[in-house]
Amino acid sequence: MPKEQTSAAAYTAKNAWTVYKDEAVRATMHSFCDDYIDFLSSCKTERETIAYCERVLKEHGFSSNPADRAYVTTLRGKALFALRRGSRPLSQGVHIIAAHGDCPRLDFKQHPIVEQAGFAQAKTHYYGGLRKYQWLARPLALHGIIAKDDGTVVPVCIGEQPDDPVFAIEDLLPHLAQKQVTQTVKEAFEGEKLNIILGNRPKEQKDGDEEGGSCPESVKSAILDLLFERYNVREEDFISAELQVVPAGRAAYVGLDRSLVGGYGQDDRICVYTALRALCDMDKDQDANCALIIWDKEEIGSDGATGASSRFFSYCLEDVLQAQEPATPLRHVHLASKALSADVTAGLDPDYQDAHEKTNAAALGFGTCFEKYGGSGGKYGSSEAHAEFFAELRGILNRRSIPWQAGELGRVDHGGGGTVALFLAAWGMNVIDCGPALLSMHSPFELSSVVDIYSAYMAYKAFYEA
Ligand code: MN
Ligand code: MN
Repeated sequence: MPKEQTSAAAYTAKNAWTVYKDEAVRATMHSFCDDYIDFLSSCKTERETIAYCERVLKEHGFSSNPADRAYVTTLRGKALFALRRGSRPLSQGVHIIAAHGDCPRLDFKQHPIVEQAGFAQAKTHYYGGLRKYQWLARPLALHGIIAKDDGTVVPVCIGEQPDDPVFAIEDLLPHLAQKQVTQTVKEAFEGEKLNIILGNRPKEQKDGDEEGGSCPESVKSAILDLLFERYNVREEDFISAELQVVPAGRAAYVGLDRSLVGGYGQDDRICVYTALRALCDMDKDQDANCALIIWDKEEIGSDGATGASSRFFSYCLEDVLQAQEPATPLRHVHLASKALSADVTAGLDPDYQDAHEKTNAAALGFGTCFEKYGGSGGKYGSSEAHAEFFAELRGILNRRSIPWQAGELGRVDHGGGGTVALFLAAWGMNVIDCGPALLSMHSPFELSSVVDIYSAYMAYKAFYEA
């Protein structure tokens, strides 16, 4: 189209690569993403994520005393609240960024270990929305803790070191899948078949033991012996364990041009990492009070003590108020606060473009994405951001030349999704969703864009410093 046909008043989102084109900026951006890839590769559970964030914040001077200017606290190792005081009183509100540290995965059941057809397997119950077939026939790792009845806690991480074994769920060979391929996806892949292969070697036969390898559950017995020798845990200990099966291996750059990052858990650890770095790197003499919240349980509806529907966040603010500004009522802080619900959205999928309404779809490479509303079936379940607040944020990013875009999750009535935004909105504060778009969301290998990662970091920093 000739240029003169475009109105000067027209809007098009800028491709972020055209904004971040300076060599030095690109070097900074890639070095940021190198660190992000390391983070993503080492933090695969909410506990690992919270421990990482708490450690980094403490290295940046955050203390566990709510009377201090920089304060961090955690709940059950699964949720985190951090606050950096500015020069303004708390009665004028807090700039809050809230992300979630939990991701879809396969959890061990309470009675996980079984033996079928000579294989010891662990039965799982999936956590969050996932496409079951994506977890078959690929290397898996086991992360979590085993809490024993004497109070000791055994940390578990198997499948990530180069000499570690990995785990797997088998899949049916195509030769024998003729019936399966005619079924619906829902029928073809059952939750009860997501069983993790733990071993195939029967228990060694002792002298005088007639049955040996032929005794029932001999492979399971051998695995239990191994677990006892190596971790000093018994089968009963699994009843109360938190063991999560996640994709094994590291995150990586994707594409010949290294323009994308692929890895497990980017929903929502991409926002956890960029917001954490923003809070650590921001101007320390800023006016605004800045908070970071990392919640758990978002992928299963935000219920639970460590989820966004709990009182945890309010209790933390109350502690800070009591220590620093006891005359200010908590509700005044809530009402005066501004929040970014930092979560990912769906990017336009090149092979499934008709799942999106292209004018309003987010695209990878166009900067962090604002979502004014989410929900489904007529914005149901969405808190929807107010026009004035969204406009104010546009202004903050535009003045700093930070690329951003606006989008919604998919075509009207094609599904939908929610975030923690409505839990923040419940306190009366201004809130909007803001985070990078992903491809293959909720899969074992989610894709994000290098420029969007950097843009989210810059946007969160600008929001804190505004
Ligand atoms: Mn999310
Ligand atoms: Mn999600």
